[in-house]
Amino acid sequence: MAITISALKEAPGENRVALSPDVVRKLVKSEYQVLIEKDAGQQAFYQDSAYTDAGAQVVDRKTAIEKASLIATIDQPGDDVVDHLQAGQTLLGLLASLTDLEFVKKLAAKKVNAMAFELLPRTVSRAQTMDVLSSQASVAGYKAALLAADKFTRYFPMMITAAGTAKPTKVLVLGTGVAGLQAIGTAKRLGAMVSGYDIRPASRGEVESLGATFLTTSVSATGEGGYARALTPEETAQQQKELAGFIAENDVIITTAQVPGRRPPLLVTQDSVDNAKPGTVFIDLAASELGGNVAGSKADDTVTTPNGAQIIAAGDMASQLPASASDMFAKNVQAVINDVTKDGELVFDVDDEVVGELLATYQGEIISSRVRSAMKLPDRHPAKAEDAADEAHPDAADDSSEKSKTKGAD
Ligand code: NAD
Repeated sequence: MAITISALKEAPGENRVALSPDVVRKLVKSEYQVLIEKDAGQQAFYQDSAYTDAGAQVVDRKTAIEKASLIATIDQPGDDVVDHLQAGQTLLGLLASLTDLEFVKKLAAKKVNAMAFELLPRTVSRAQTMDVLSSQASVAGYKAALLAADKFTRYFPMMITAAGTAKPTKVLVLGTGVAGLQAIGTAKRLGAMVSGYDIRPASRGEVESLGATFLTTSVSATGEGGYARALTPEETAQQQKELAGFIAENDVIITTAQVPGRRPPLLVTQDSVDNAKPGTVFIDLAASELGGNVAGSKADDTVTTPNGAQIIAAGDMASQLPASASDMFAKNVQAVINDVTKDGELVFDVDDEVVGELLATYQGEIISSRVRSAMKLPDRHPAKAEDAADEAHPDAADDSSEKSKTKGAD
């Protein structure tokens, strides 16, 4: 029987869809059966007819859930979906698996397999085509620069006209990972004078290669896997103090700073907001219910301060460019599906360095080391330390290192 892949209509406010017609066509060609919930692509301007033309069946929500081997979603689905999932089905999407542990436990209790994109080990080269965090951050950074240009009350580029010369807008990007670099590139193309700042000194070369100026403070902090580490309270205070001067000199400040699994760092204090030039636009890409990089930023809202600065909480930028974001998300979904398909079945190798980390739950067990650590569960591989001992004493080796390939339901 063919593997059945479903995509559902996302919750109101989410404009993206997890499968594009283009990816559906490829999946169908590779003999997957694809079910799309009616109107699932509407917000991204993918009509139901585009999906049927690509070989999918457009069905009601209940059918898309019940008949799926694997359901691809953008965001964590609600109870109306989860309550109808059956043991052996697989959910693939951004599932908030590190921040909503109860959700993960619920899926484990139902023996639903959960593959959470936020758990992807991004530095493994095989995983790069699956990297939703990068693909969506890139869209978000681009859209953030466009939004800033739209909301700011002056030209971005220098303009020399018969009616006088307009100076270019000064744009500062705080946090120059994937989203920040894309925001820098876009603001540069719009003609602004751009500078970038990151706590990781390694990011200097990337910022400068885009023609922007790299700013530094006396605080630097590189953590594991190329990410920033969380700062101590003293480092935070020092950084905030030094950033205040940069912020006061700029017209537009785009913030993107994140530390994996933590509340986003506060880079722009209330004092910095109060001292910003009138008309300054802050675009806070890190804003969510957890807080943001800018003091006073309110999730999904715009705040205008008494000194006329705007603080735009822009945590949903990828959803604001839904067609491009969905295209890339769908490609990432396709890459995961291809990776776990063996001989016409979904096969989850829980010991694989990519699949084993992507799997929050499998057959009722918590697999991902990051989710296990968040739940304070012991390591699934305490044997790793013993392996070293086994290498030194080969006679002591048993068969525990043999990979346990297990098959999922289809
Ligand atoms: P992210 O979204 O976790 O964070 C965004 C940026 O905020 C990062 O550059 C981080 O250094 C910065 N930041 C965090 N705390 C800060 C603070 N207090 N002050 C200033 N900046 C702060 O990061 P990301 O965009 O997902 O990427 C993080 C790193 O991972 C980058 O080096 C990126 O190039 C790398 N990466 C590598 C791969 C790969 O190897 N395939 C894929 C994706 C990302």
